[in-house]
Amino acid sequence: MTDARVTGTPHDKDLVLVGGGHSHVHVLKMFGMRPLPGVRLTLVTRTAETPYSGMLPGFVAGCYDHDQIHLDLVRLARFAGARLVLAEACGLDRAARRVLLPGRPPLRYDLLSLDIGSTPRADDVPGALEHVTRLKPVDRLAERWRALTERVLAADHRLRLVMVGGGAAGIEVALGAEHALRLRLRAAGREALTPAVALVTGGRLLAGHAPAVRTAFLAEAARRGVAVREDARVARVEAGALVMADDRRIPFDECLWATQAAGAPWLAETGLALDDAGFVLVTETLQSVTDPLVLAAGDVATMVGHPRPKAGVMAVRQGPPLTENLRRLITGQAPQPFRPQKRFLALIGTGDGRAVASRGRFTAQGAWVWRWKDHVDRTWMRKYQELPEMRLPAAVMDPDAMRCADCGGKVAADVLRRALARLGLAAAPADAAEIPVPPGARLVQSVDHFRAFVGDPWLMGRIAAVHALSDLEAMGARPVAALAIVGLPAAADGLLEDDLVQVLDGARSVLPSIVGGHTAESDSMTVGFAVTGALQGPGRSKGGLRPGEALVLTKPLGTGTLLAAAMRGRAKGRWVAAALDAMAEPNAAAAAAFTAAGVTGCTDVTGFGLLGHLVEMLEASGVDAEVDTATLPALDGAAETLAAGLVSSLHPANLRFAVAAEGAAVPALLTDPQTAGGLLAGVPADRLDAVLAALPAARVVGRVTPRAGTGPQVVLR
Ligand SMILES: Cc1cc2nc3c(=O)[nH]c(=O)nc-3n(C[C@H](O)[C@H](O)[C@H](O)COP(=O)(O)OP(=O)(O)OC[C@H]3O[C@@H](n4cnc5c(N)ncnc54)[C@H](O)[C@@H]3O)c2cc1C
Repeated sequence: MTDARVTGTPHDKDLVLVGGGHSHVHVLKMFGMRPLPGVRLTLVTRTAETPYSGMLPGFVAGCYDHDQIHLDLVRLARFAGARLVLAEACGLDRAARRVLLPGRPPLRYDLLSLDIGSTPRADDVPGALEHVTRLKPVDRLAERWRALTERVLAADHRLRLVMVGGGAAGIEVALGAEHALRLRLRAAGREALTPAVALVTGGRLLAGHAPAVRTAFLAEAARRGVAVREDARVARVEAGALVMADDRRIPFDECLWATQAAGAPWLAETGLALDDAGFVLVTETLQSVTDPLVLAAGDVATMVGHPRPKAGVMAVRQGPPLTENLRRLITGQAPQPFRPQKRFLALIGTGDGRAVASRGRFTAQGAWVWRWKDHVDRTWMRKYQELPEMRLPAAVMDPDAMRCADCGGKVAADVLRRALARLGLAAAPADAAEIPVPPGARLVQSVDHFRAFVGDPWLMGRIAAVHALSDLEAMGARPVAALAIVGLPAAADGLLEDDLVQVLDGARSVLPSIVGGHTAESDSMTVGFAVTGALQGPGRSKGGLRPGEALVLTKPLGTGTLLAAAMRGRAKGRWVAAALDAMAEPNAAAAAAFTAAGVTGCTDVTGFGLLGHLVEMLEASGVDAEVDTATLPALDGAAETLAAGLVSSLHPANLRFAVAAEGAAVPALLTDPQTAGGLLAGVPADRLDAVLAALPAARVVGRVTPRAGTGPQVVLR
């Protein structure tokens, strides 16, 4: 899905982008247009989508919806042929050239680029972090704004909304909020409850702009009843009130915070030179003044000798020179200097379909300025939302890059040894692994193997392990050991070692113990596990369903269609991210809850889809079932991708199970093949409440009924 580009040239360099900000979206697009053979591109991002700053105030004002202002980083990464790592970087080990990630091994880089925006200052004003809604970081503003809107709409009295910060973002959002909330409340017949909006700023409103721009916005604010208090410094924030430097108190029900932000706190630990606000100091080539292998752009970078406001437009302008210098540096060429422009055009909205243009002493205002701004912003977004057709991999194939496949294409012993040492796993001194059998237990075994469908090797290792373990968990066996079978595409030894560390660490985050395995080179990454479990007592089986039991499914359906849609670039990034989260969720808690409830009939839902696995159970148990099709749990987006006819290649074969179904038409979700799906179990009625309480994501999807005819039947309701 993400690492789709096969260049034919073994990778020997790692270029890692941290953050999917405005500059990096350009880098991704340009690498997609013109891949660099031998360079492995990775995007580390904490969110699957990133907002375009220019449209954020318009979003608050209700002019744009969520999708219109967000760029889909999953799609962009796929277009770029980049590996996507959905994680929040928390540090750098520059000596070892590694990006630190929480809860998993660090990620290697040869060249690194940071475009992570800014973070609200924690030390700035006491009480601010606890009591206000911050506009930054911008990638989480949409959900914070939604929560605030819900509170205002639910209130039974007029709320007081205070904006702190008199820059463009502050006044735009204050006016936009007033407008949007008024319209929503008017539609509900409660316009009188439109919040009283005030703006507080330490200096003058829009200080960096021409006086005419300030005058225009003061007049607009007065017309709209938004009170502006200039030269008013907030000393501290308490619950429900700003306490000003002159001890006055400004009460509020909701406070929005749009003052100057700072660099992420972890940057201070990297040893990179930072400015007073904690942003990375860079030269004209966008390289850190401390470390030429680390580049930075956007808010997180401060260019020595060229101080500029922290604005999205700056990050946008740095996209092309950053791309050029990353290409140059990773291929051993000298980078080129870049001088940012001193003045830029700001188009500042008034939230009601008009805007003010400001550049130096030039100003203009009116509805036509808003239409101009809207056109500029939509045009920019289209460049990254409407991606050209992907080039054929052959365009970057290097025909000389043939690899020897001696010794069954085994990965070099040194690579394996180093990877195992980094994981604290000793290379097995014996020829085979010995697995002690607990007294009174039977051993059960299962094996599963996949071609990787995500570029992140850690996540792939984890999902493959979850998938393999679910067979044991369905039976009620305790996992005791695993053997890994890993295929890695040809790459330089350092990259292979890192991939192996990532895959095995991802797997062992859920596996009991990896006692051995086999690693080989292959065309693309493949990951599989042979797992062994110990079964005490009768355990569970597909044949253990009893009439009267509720059929409980522990994970939502839809991974097959969502992965198929993602491969075609037709799934939204946030749907894909949620599906990956579901796949990475182990079934151990579900297995434990079923054991505690004395469940006897259980299976894991994988390639045959819910219907296929249910029919297998009905056959083995000699019973029938009813299924409530209207309440089947589905992953976000699965209904949309199924409706668009996007199904996995396994899906058509699963339609054969439809012969066992009667009643309503078979919904496509029932035959959607699952990867690392949930468990399906028959839960006795008197244990159902306890099981559902223990497993918040579990849903009752139907019930077990006595066998009516000769073969298994599923009555769809
Ligand atoms: C309400 C509002 C309105 C604004 N309006 C405008 C405007 O009209 N025009 C303008 O020019 N500027 C505007 N700005 C300023 C603008 O938003 C920022 O300057 C701009 O977003 C900076 O872009 P960036 O690329 O540096 O970072 P961002 O846009 O903040 O992107 C950073 C990305 O990095 C990711 N990230 C962050 N930390 C990590 C991590 N540790 N690991 C992995 N990923 C990480 C985030 O998820 C995010 O996707 C506005 C700001 C606000 C708050």
